[in-house]
Amino acid sequence: MALVSCPKCSTNTQQGGYPVWVIIVCICFFPVGLLALLAGKKPSTCGSCGHTFQS
Ligand SMILES: [Zn+2]
Repeated sequence: MALVSCPKCSTNTQQGGYPVWVIIVCICFFPVGLLALLAGKKPSTCGSCGHTFQS
């Protein structure tokens, strides 16, 4: 997992990833399933200040 820095407090936090269903939909319904990547991406939540952001 990649680390991203929080835009609010600059603390390094773990980057939000993709849930398993998004990967499955993407593969089974390629190329339309790629839209699931846009819809299903989980945001990153800072463990320090709780700020949620897209990375
Ligand atoms: Zn933060």
